[in-house]
Amino acid sequence: MTSTVPSPLVLDGIVIAAQIKSELAAEVAAARDRGYVPGLAVILVGEVPASQIYVRSKVKTCAELGIYSEMHTPDASATTEELLALVASLNAREEIDGILIQLPLPAHVDTARLLEAIDPAKDVDGFHPINAGRLLNGTPMEKILAPCTPAGIMEVLRRSKIPVRGQRAVVIGRSNIVGKPIAVMLVNASATVTVCHSQTRGLAEITREADIVVAAIGRAGFVTAEMVRPGATIIDVGINRITTAEELEQFFPGDAARHAGFAKRGSTLVGDVDPAAFALAGAYTPVPGGVGALTIAMLMSNTVKAARLRRG
Ligand code: NDP
Repeated sequence: MTSTVPSPLVLDGIVIAAQIKSELAAEVAAARDRGYVPGLAVILVGEVPASQIYVRSKVKTCAELGIYSEMHTPDASATTEELLALVASLNAREEIDGILIQLPLPAHVDTARLLEAIDPAKDVDGFHPINAGRLLNGTPMEKILAPCTPAGIMEVLRRSKIPVRGQRAVVIGRSNIVGKPIAVMLVNASATVTVCHSQTRGLAEITREADIVVAAIGRAGFVTAEMVRPGATIIDVGINRITTAEELEQFFPGDAARHAGFAKRGSTLVGDVDPAAFALAGAYTPVPGGVGALTIAMLMSNTVKAARLRRG
């Protein structure tokens, strides 16, 4: 008798993001009927090319969904005091529901002070200590502005009907923007969560126990097939650009589409999980087209939510 191993389910972030955006467009239209338009202000300091691309894409998505947006582009030499004054002026404006400061900021700017100056009710990145505290307190997600990437992961799990309650989840990475908040969200959703980081001993033994692995490390292909229990759900948050033929061959042997893309652009993206590990998974988020695709959709969701919550 032969047994067949089912193919892993691909958790398609592009499809899920499109669903979320279509729901948001309907909610924005309904808000307009009630007499208000959700509004987002984006602050981009200086001219960092990658940040300019991210910000353009955020502004474009606002336009697609009918959300009002405006951009503020202070010079790279702007002082912390000048930026604090800009944030204060945006805090005071009724029609602005969300304020997003594109990171990283120039080294001379006090980033923490600036992020804490944003009105927590307008903190659509969810980085303000008040919002981080509400998440830690277990306030329901629909009532808080939570960080976009981890909130996007929870949406992927929920919409793909991946069970979380009672499951063993292992998060690799403990950053304030991904690792810690996703660990808290999983605990709040009644998973049993272990958080690992660079000082963790016996990492592979821990990850092999997991029903859900979240990899947020920033190292190409770090999680290998030996580290994953067959059938586990793998959430790959990492975005790493590889540029050498050796890495291409290591991660994508025999993958004609990847090789063709690499030949054209001279690089390709790989997550924090070795694609060979995906073959063992029950379900996984690909890179690109997985978690990364959700982040802007969740920013839009936070903007619409902030507009709704601010109006009671
Ligand atoms: P950080 O660099 O802030 O954090 C990385 C974490 O990985 C740290 O906690 C670090 O541990 C841990 N780590 C590093 N090396 C090891 C190791 N050998 N073993 C175990 N843990 C290790 O990264 P971010 O959280 O900001 O981002 C992680 C990845 O996710 C990056 O690839 C980034 O590009 C991507 N990302 C993707 C987003 C998206 O939209 N899809 C959004 C945000 C990030 P320690 O704390 O001990 O140093």
